[in-house]
Amino acid sequence: MARHGGRGWYGQVVAAALGVTAVTVAASLWTAQAGPVKERVQAGTPVHHSDPKAAPVSMAIAHASDRGARGVNITIDDGPDPVWTPEVLQVLKAYGVKATFCMIGPQAKAHPDLVRAVVAAGHRLCDHTVSHDVTMDTKSEAYQSQQILDAEQMITEASGGVRPLYYRAPGGAFTPYSRKLAASHGMRPLGWNVDSKDFERPGTAAIVTTVKEEMPNGPTILFHDAGGDRSETVAALREVLPWLKEQGYSFGFPVR
Ligand SMILES: [Zn+2]
Repeated sequence: MARHGGRGWYGQVVAAALGVTAVTVAASLWTAQAGPVKERVQAGTPVHHSDPKAAPVSMAIAHASDRGARGVNITIDDGPDPVWTPEVLQVLKAYGVKATFCMIGPQAKAHPDLVRAVVAAGHRLCDHTVSHDVTMDTKSEAYQSQQILDAEQMITEASGGVRPLYYRAPGGAFTPYSRKLAASHGMRPLGWNVDSKDFERPGTAAIVTTVKEEMPNGPTILFHDAGGDRSETVAALREVLPWLKEQGYSFGFPVR
């Protein structure tokens, strides 16, 4: 299998569900934009609150790394959490790794200090909705809009004006509508290729093994810093991050 050639399971699901339409939409967007949209908002750059919304990005689900073929994207979901986010930040700092944090709106609102710590360390923010509803793809457009845009506002206010640059649907429950809405607000839909399965707490060794075995799937790896005891995640990161470096990977961000 070609390295990083996979689209991730829900990329395939979306493509299958949409058939040629997905390809056509993505292709026409690409043509209309004449190449990738330049990133206007850098991580750590405050955006003035009067700015109505960020420049639009592609609505296609991103999996690739901005570091290219040997790039890897660490993504950390479901926080921020007052116990585990600081521990994850410490491990990332120890290995000089930048990551993307997919935050739940109310938790960002409850812990603005953590959101600011994430941004100050050079990591990027991602909108992971208000309620973490994994059946969002069965809900109304009004509901999806509220889930995405309210969380965007909560995260941006908590950060002091730094916007989320990505949108990750809980459970991968994207819809064409939610992807288009997020993209129009400058949030690239974000998938994953490697599910570390840390959420299930299978033991540190199992998490490490899963990541090592599934790296051929692609560069975007999923971990969690909330939703329960994440000590196995922290321990696994201490092993996975140096291993990835030994394998010649460089740590980057998902493409936008
Ligand atoms: Zn999640």
